Amino acid sequence: MRISVAIDGPAGAGKSTIAKIVAKNFNLMYINTGSMYRAVTLKSVEANIEPEDIQKVLKIVDNMEMHFENDELILNGENINDKITTPEISNKVSAYASIKEVRAKLVLLMQEMSKKYDVIMDGRDIGTVVLKDATHKFFLTASPEERAERRYKELINKGLEVNYEEILKDIIRRDYLDTNREADPLRKAEDAIEIDTTGLNIQEVVDNICKHIK
Ligand code: C5P
Repeated sequence: MRISVAIDGPAGAGKSTIAKIVAKNFNLMYINTGSMYRAVTLKSVEANIEPEDIQKVLKIVDNMEMHFENDELILNGENINDKITTPEISNKVSAYASIKEVRAKLVLLMQEMSKKYDVIMDGRDIGTVVLKDATHKFFLTASPEERAERRYKELINKGLEVNYEEILKDIIRRDYLDTNREADPLRKAEDAIEIDTTGLNIQEVVDNICKHIK
């Protein structure tokens, strides 16, 4: 039987850091679904297409070949990781991710990946929509301030000039949009194990998750 691990939660809850380590421990393919929505946003922004122009955004999606290599998204043969993690894309991604037709296409892609490989996927709707029958489901949370602090450090370490207050504002705004949208909103699956990571270090969260998967 295929193993599939779903990790959902709000921005900055530590999902990707944790998922990458758990992936190595259990030899799973890590699929960062947020990066797929970010890629759609990047390509739309580059082509000056607003999220209201749904048909044009869908055309963009149809011309995207996406797969993962070494935990990172490869889009049409190019590693676009640096381009999709900028504050500009973070700011705009929720608007494109709320388009239900875009979600339908990306969800299918994600489900195809889970049929081919044992996966660990992180996102907002993995346990509730994408992998409803996942063998393991987790929901990670942390206070908005702690999540903003983590994002701030991550971006500073990458050499970007960022402001903590702006990041906190973006996180609160994205939480609101992701939770209140009509299509596949962020919420905990009934059968997911919730872990509040506030005050916990990475290893403590990884150990908790690995204990459940074992
Ligand atoms: O996980 P990350 O913060 O990179 O996700 C970026 C955005 O993509 C989220 O704020 C959300 O709007 C969208 N997203 C989503 N469904 C997912 C993953 C991400 O709507 N499964």
